[in-house]
Amino acid sequence: MTSLTLQAPAKINLTLDILRHREDGYHELCMVMQSVSLCDRIRLDFGSPGGIRAESGLRFLPNDKSNLAVAAALAFRQATGGRWQDLLISLQKRIPVCAGTAGGSSDAAAVLRGLNQLTGAGLSPQALAQIGEAVGSDVPYCVLGTTALAQGRGEKLTPLPPLPPCWIVLCKPLFSLSTPALYRAWDKARPKLRPDTQGLIQGLEQGDLTAVAQRLFNVFEHTLSPRQRREVEAIKVALVQAGALGAAMSGSGPTVFGLFDQEVAAQDAVTLLKESYPEVFLTRPIASPEEIPV
Ligand code: ATP
Repeated sequence: MTSLTLQAPAKINLTLDILRHREDGYHELCMVMQSVSLCDRIRLDFGSPGGIRAESGLRFLPNDKSNLAVAAALAFRQATGGRWQDLLISLQKRIPVCAGTAGGSSDAAAVLRGLNQLTGAGLSPQALAQIGEAVGSDVPYCVLGTTALAQGRGEKLTPLPPLPPCWIVLCKPLFSLSTPALYRAWDKARPKLRPDTQGLIQGLEQGDLTAVAQRLFNVFEHTLSPRQRREVEAIKVALVQAGALGAAMSGSGPTVFGLFDQEVAAQDAVTLLKESYPEVFLTRPIASPEEIPV
């Protein structure tokens, strides 16, 4: 086998908490992560000469090693002592870029999973996650996926019970955020309000979607400028008015999501938000690796 096509699911943060600024410059995080059914599609092709490179048809995405998918392929080759020279990674992007939904990290994780299969390396998911650590902080989580508590820089993972079946509406606001700027804003503001991570985990353990939805919380929302905060709040209000049980910003934003127990209400929210925002998606949680769309 010389080629393979696979799906790379987006993630949302049910919670995002920052515990402290570490001595090594990173921040100590505590996050509950959830994979969702919105996926990039990735084709790996060993038969195509030209070195290791990516193509996406998107001018603003790099095709060299600054593309996380290429960085993952290089890290995999180095870790496994591979001698192959040529790999074309074709990315069909569906996950919004720079949106707090781990599109790049998930592409990298899919490349690691795919190369493991194509080369017959037979590495465990844990070994692949370890290779992914050097590529990006969210890559280890994206290798393992589903529902997990992520600590440290995001690489210390504890599997959690799945989010109960529901519909998840994602909406990307019209402004962009810089992740380093958000961390700097957190360093300055040190917001007092924090997520009830244990309460949310208890909600997952009890299969109680309402309890989970009531505890969605992202500390970065409290570091946004007033204008950005107003836009995020307006989307959250629209989601809740449409019937969402709870709503929050995901990761380093700006994507906002709402959890729904009724498909019709979720579809109505999508229709409403599409009047104002170009990037709105109706997704479902992924509860096990077998549920990743093919
Ligand atoms: P996270 O939720 O992990 O913070 P994100 O959704 O905010 O991620 P991404 O879309 O993953 O952000 O990527 C952000 C940056 O990474 C962009 O500057 C983009 O150019 C770069 N990048 C590199 N490779 C990729 C890729 N395969 N897909 C998307 N972005 C990529």
